Amino acid sequence: MRALVKPSPAPGLVLTEVPEPEVGPDEVLIRVQRMAICGTDLHIDDWNEWAAATVPTPLTIGHEYVGTVERVGDQVHDIEIGSRVTAEGHITCGTCRNCRAGRRHLCRNTVGIGVQRNGGFAEYVAVPAFNVYVVPDHIDDDTAAILDPLGNAVHTTLTFDLVGEDVLITGAGPIGLMATAIAQRAGARHVVVTDISAGRLRLAEQMGASRAVDTRATPLTVVMSDLGMTEGFDVGLEMSGAPTALREMIATMNHGGRVALLGILPDGAGIDWEKVIFHGLTLQGIYGRKLFETWYKAAALLEEGLDVSPVITDRYPITEHEAAFDALRHGDAAKILLTW
Ligand code: ZN
Repeated sequence: MRALVKPSPAPGLVLTEVPEPEVGPDEVLIRVQRMAICGTDLHIDDWNEWAAATVPTPLTIGHEYVGTVERVGDQVHDIEIGSRVTAEGHITCGTCRNCRAGRRHLCRNTVGIGVQRNGGFAEYVAVPAFNVYVVPDHIDDDTAAILDPLGNAVHTTLTFDLVGEDVLITGAGPIGLMATAIAQRAGARHVVVTDISAGRLRLAEQMGASRAVDTRATPLTVVMSDLGMTEGFDVGLEMSGAPTALREMIATMNHGGRVALLGILPDGAGIDWEKVIFHGLTLQGIYGRKLFETWYKAAALLEEGLDVSPVITDRYPITEHEAAFDALRHGDAAKILLTW
């Protein structure tokens, strides 16, 4: 079968022939139809420090996809052949303290599909049956392909109570954009989104942002006074991984404000700790999705009318993967879908 592979520990990816995956007794073989590129895939392509320390080679990448069940292992009895499925990308151990306590998203032995074992940018991918998510009929194929990042957005956005609160989202990438719509639906008062890409800021407005701003041109304090905010943001969702964005967030949070951190900040990113301490801020790191609570929430939000389709800005056949990855790196693209 064909697969998009990181062949060796160096930059670059190749579309090549690889053996079909073997299917363990408790695994499911998925025939992949639609895929989506994540920032993680760019890091693996670039072969940055994180990738070099994390990713074994050769490896088929990709963890955002939807397909149909082709075959199931002997011990799998509750998943039907032909079902439309995607999969939770984190394989958890089931035996550590957090797993046994029902907090699988905090498993210390997590293995990532498409990161530490062969992933879904392939004609077929084998995943543990436990990880399989049967996609409800009300979710279309495009959205089904991006349930993984939608889950990141749902998990981050719903970490803190935001009913009637003023929310700041830094970073209008796909997850920040989806978080914007979720925060609005969940009952936030104002949702202010910052980014430095004009295209992404336009999308943020489309997703329901009260204001979408490039703070190099318009400082947050101006936006806040414009919106009649006198004290500060109550909830912050950091989605950019940009130290300047986090510093702006810390500076504009109200006393007692709560900040969820999803963007991956570089080593040594400094913040004003005095504000964290004297303003009594809460900082919460977010990783992945709650298993499988987040999946249920995401499906229910979609069923009730949440529309994340505007974040899908481009489509490419996987044979043009280089152009697709470049578009994500350099353009105003948000989510890019790949097909066979
Ligand atoms: Zn565990």
